[in-house]
Amino acid sequence: MNPVYASLGDTIFDVMSGLARETGAVNLGQGFPEWDGPEDVRQRAADALMKGPNQYPPMRGLPHLREAVAEHYGRLQGIQLDWKTEVTITSGATEALAAALLSVLSPSDEVVLFEPMYDSYLPMLRRAGATARFVRLKPPHWRVDPAELAAAFNEKTRAVVLNTPLNPSASLIGAEDLSLIAAQCVKHDCIAISDEVWEHCVFDGAVHISMLDAPGMRERTIKIGSAGKIFSMTGWKVGFACAAPALSEAFAKAHQFLTFTTPPNLQEAVAFGLAKPREHFDAMREQLARQRDRLATALRQEGFSLLPAAGTYFMAVDLAASGIALSDAEFAVRAVKECGIATIPFSAFYTRPPESALVRLCFAKSDATLDRGVEGLAKARKLLA
Ligand code: PMP
Repeated sequence: MNPVYASLGDTIFDVMSGLARETGAVNLGQGFPEWDGPEDVRQRAADALMKGPNQYPPMRGLPHLREAVAEHYGRLQGIQLDWKTEVTITSGATEALAAALLSVLSPSDEVVLFEPMYDSYLPMLRRAGATARFVRLKPPHWRVDPAELAAAFNEKTRAVVLNTPLNPSASLIGAEDLSLIAAQCVKHDCIAISDEVWEHCVFDGAVHISMLDAPGMRERTIKIGSAGKIFSMTGWKVGFACAAPALSEAFAKAHQFLTFTTPPNLQEAVAFGLAKPREHFDAMREQLARQRDRLATALRQEGFSLLPAAGTYFMAVDLAASGIALSDAEFAVRAVKECGIATIPFSAFYTRPPESALVRLCFAKSDATLDRGVEGLAKARKLLA
């Protein structure tokens, strides 16, 4: 087996969901909503499946969907994209991340990553033969330290991978920090692979800022989105990569031999969904913010200390500040086995142990599940504190 994969275990999401299934625990671990996405979008997919065509769509995606992606970002984020040369449809953001890394990197290149980070970046860039350099974002504000950032770049740096809103910390990378990263990319002639799959899940009036809009980055950013996140249907693997024409051209070369294309009925339905009015996306955000607040209020009443949750489906519990003197992994395993509640330990998102013991909770759940989750966590705090 290739050594990159030989050293990897199962992803933490599968491990914790597996334990939750085995033990019958409430699952606030893996990040999937408990509801299905909009009925009209699903109906559109069902109709397109029956009506066809069901044969290979064009390699870069259905023109109809690529136009819809450009229209959507133009209308909701003020980003002007030429759908013919700047938008590629992929099989989920995971494929887009892989195609971006494979198309940009050569062996001996270096890539700057921010910890905590989503778990697919590191194995994929290593598989491309590149080496990672890490910049750590620290709780509670998860800001970029300019000196640490500058020290991570050198003449070998080819790319930076960033994620905003950031899973698992539920923080946003603000304009100031995006500009700092942009300045290093410009200085060292690097590409930014910008994972923006949580772009619609921002709360309390915050506005998502894309790396494409950062100073000097329009020609050197691959912005990645995910219909699975936009429509709360994580099983729908439909992603988008938006980049300047030359970068899109390179990206498509990798994409054509990864998946070549994505089921046409899902593409058709996503095109329909992206055209929905702004109010649709506002309502989704409001519902998520309500679930977040329900969970946060109940947990605080039980004595838990939480970090701010500005975006994504997630919030972080600070174990030490909640009176629990266990590592995040010990807590997560004991909580699922002994108290019936599955969480995700933050250490899964780091290469070296994090400075604080934090666990991630997903609040995209029904009221009943959130309430049962709070019961499990309250039990865990009594037993493990
Ligand atoms: N990036 C981040 C930060 C994510 O949280 C996820 C999904 N959890 C993905 C990428 C993968 O998205 P997709 O399901 O569209 O492949």
